[in-house]
Amino acid sequence: MENSANDASRNTQDSSSKKAVFRPNDKIVFPGGCIGCLASSPKHQLQLNILVTRQNVKSGTTGSTIGGVVGFALGGFIGAAAGTVIGGALSGDHSSSTLPLIIPICETCLSKIDNQLKKINDPNTAIITTPYFTREIEEGFIVITFSNTDYAGQFHKLNKGLVFTSLAEAISQELRSQAPTSSAEQEDSQLLLDMLLPNMPDRNWYRQPDIPPKKLNNAIASYAKNITPESVIGLADGSVMGSAKDGCILTSEGIYYKSTLSRGQFFWRGIQKAHLKNKSTMELVLISGKTATIDCVCLDKIMSILAEYVNKMVILTHAKESSSTDKDKPKQESLVSLMDKYLPNMPDEHWYRQPDIPPKKLKNAISTYANSITPEQVLGLADGTLFGSAKEGCLLTSDGMYFKTSLGQGQVFWKDIQKVNANKNLLEFVLASGKTANIECFGYYSMAAALPEFITQMTTLTTTTE
Ligand SMILES: [Zn+2]
Repeated sequence: MENSANDASRNTQDSSSKKAVFRPNDKIVFPGGCIGCLASSPKHQLQLNILVTRQNVKSGTTGSTIGGVVGFALGGFIGAAAGTVIGGALSGDHSSSTLPLIIPICETCLSKIDNQLKKINDPNTAIITTPYFTREIEEGFIVITFSNTDYAGQFHKLNKGLVFTSLAEAISQELRSQAPTSSAEQEDSQLLLDMLLPNMPDRNWYRQPDIPPKKLNNAIASYAKNITPESVIGLADGSVMGSAKDGCILTSEGIYYKSTLSRGQFFWRGIQKAHLKNKSTMELVLISGKTATIDCVCLDKIMSILAEYVNKMVILTHAKESSSTDKDKPKQESLVSLMDKYLPNMPDEHWYRQPDIPPKKLKNAISTYANSITPEQVLGLADGTLFGSAKEGCLLTSDGMYFKTSLGQGQVFWKDIQKVNANKNLLEFVLASGKTANIECFGYYSMAAALPEFITQMTTLTTTTE
């Protein structure tokens, strides 16, 4: 259920004109015509009741409150006796008040919905679907998708400034309106961090420039070796004694973490959704459909805020990516033609291009060392294993390279690469940060030999198109 809600919110262009995203608010009004057939002056009303709770955002800086939605009820006729109530509280323990949203509807259209009311009488349903609109709750916002574009247009007109066309726009606008200073040029990720996760040493959470250097060095050395201190925007110390060798690091692109039980790194673009499993455990649903857990008992005071931060970054990142897809098309095409030139399909040399990558190899490679990407993103695969399982080797996507050898695993993004040197089967990447990354290529020597020229050409391409 949660996944489909999420997919729907990551909307396609054609549904965005029917979509309305807003905070529950008594200023929201619906147009006077029937929501179903647009007939003027309908005599009946549908009541979309939304339980509103006001919780403190524990940011400490703005001290503002955000109304989060915890539940809903959909009544029948107002003033009529038969008030079918749908839904209950999505989570308990909140003092809340009911905010009725009055939707005009004609008798014919209402009777069509009435038949359906019983079917959707599930207290845990976060989505309700009627023939005229669907209603979801995401990140405390109400997301209504109208069936009728004209009605949606009228709704937007009536609620100017209060209603947005996408979840990402709503989040971004809200950030800007709540930022302490006007900061149009500031990145959403920074504003969001300022709002949700300011420096809180008492909760073992540190923001730059206040991260103790020793903690920062320990954390990077312990579980985020391929990033620079400069790219770290926040650090959570999850260690018992304050060494920060366990915990997590946030960068603008994702989260790195380590606990006594597990470790990993996840990029916003590879995540679908995060939710809190318990006070100190967050579960991530990845784009691949797999799940991953971030758990740390020492971080129970920030884990729920961290989950909210992750979700909002995920929404903002996906929105940005879908809007840049068209712009990147020429780049994507030249990338494929560059690959045709330098890296054609060479199955004898254990290098495979799509659509010729054996499905089993692709599946093995992704699940072994590239959990954050989907099979569709893979352009080529090098199988570095002796027996053909492809559990070691490398994967190329339009953004970079994922690899695993017997010595280690990692990923390098094209945009971060300054130069690549080859020494037999050893590739050395010089990154923009000045750091280097080495990949030992066993078993796919021809591909490895062509890779430096390919990357050099591509770097030129990337810098000229941007
Ligand atoms: Zn009607």
